[in-house]
Amino acid sequence: MKNIYGVTITELEQYFIDKGQGKFKATQVFEWLYKKRVSSFTEMSNVGKSNIAMLQEDFSLESLEILAKKVDTDVSKYLFGLKDGNKIEAVLMNHDYGNSLCISTQVGCNMGCRFCESGRLKKVRNLEASEMTRQILMVEEDLKIHISHIVLMGIGEPFDNYEEVIKFIDIVNTPKGMDLGSRHITVSTSGIVPKIREFALYPKQVNLAISLHAPNNEIRSSLMNINKAYPIEEVMDAVSFYIEKTNRRVTFEYILLKGINDSREHARELSQLLRGINCYVNLIPYNETSHIEYRKSNQKTILDFYDELKKNKISVTIRREFGSKVQAACGQLRSNYEEESL
Ligand code: SAH
Ligand code: SF4
Repeated sequence: MKNIYGVTITELEQYFIDKGQGKFKATQVFEWLYKKRVSSFTEMSNVGKSNIAMLQEDFSLESLEILAKKVDTDVSKYLFGLKDGNKIEAVLMNHDYGNSLCISTQVGCNMGCRFCESGRLKKVRNLEASEMTRQILMVEEDLKIHISHIVLMGIGEPFDNYEEVIKFIDIVNTPKGMDLGSRHITVSTSGIVPKIREFALYPKQVNLAISLHAPNNEIRSSLMNINKAYPIEEVMDAVSFYIEKTNRRVTFEYILLKGINDSREHARELSQLLRGINCYVNLIPYNETSHIEYRKSNQKTILDFYDELKKNKISVTIRREFGSKVQAACGQLRSNYEEESL
């Protein structure tokens, strides 16, 4: 049985048409699910008894289970159980511009970045679109808040699950549904080049972030396996194509790792690489985890790196440090939970 939270409005319209019904029924169902937030088909009073019976037969409303949560003033973290027993995470951050939820896209990740906790668990499976949609609904419901922004930066590589990710974006962006603005959605990729090119042709104005983390191939390959398949030059070509097609500014994420990629010389090299590209750099203080040996750069090094980029006229911000207290680095809660339950 298909989960209703993974169905786009176009698919649902087609469903009703196939059943000899008006396609406006799909809009009604979307309003019940995403505006009024009902949890059963029987509450959809204007849909009609026979349609309700039909929906009950064809779709499930199955949710996620909250296995653990850590709620703090500016960051909250959820560990969700899926129906097959797998676990994923979502992290909520309160910014001055609104609430942003960091969503998982896969169970585990096959990209094998050496600094990343999520990658310590190999990919078990892709998430279905419904399992991504439900992460938002669950957190909104649990904390009684409105989520205005989402980032696909939790466990998993979104572009290794392209189809379901696009479906998910379509669902949450539907005006008659959750109505999350495309400009408030950010997809982050470790650099799967063919998918960056495909995404360049996707018509919605979604933000793209590239996890770069190094100014050259030598360092990047030592941190990220994917760089061996798609080296920096190919990533930069795909990014140029994306900017040409979408006219949108790209974010480069750059984790500062002590003694690895954080010198002034590295900052100069990075500036060279990004010169003339419509982008900005988001410097990320590394969130240390007990399983991985990398260390966070010290504050002075981070500020020097930032200064050097500024001097070279590269737009740059330093990411505010969220939730080292609640183990907010992607994958940390899951991995600690598994250890505690052993
Ligand atoms: N797979 C995608 C999206 C999920 S990872 C990607 O790699 O872009 C989201 C971001 O968190 C990436 O930039 C990743 O490099 C970063 N990240 C992973 N582990 C981290 C840690 N311990 N501290 C800080 N950032 C981390
Ligand atoms: Fe996967 Fe992203 Fe972690 Fe790399 S950083 S292992 S791509 S989740």
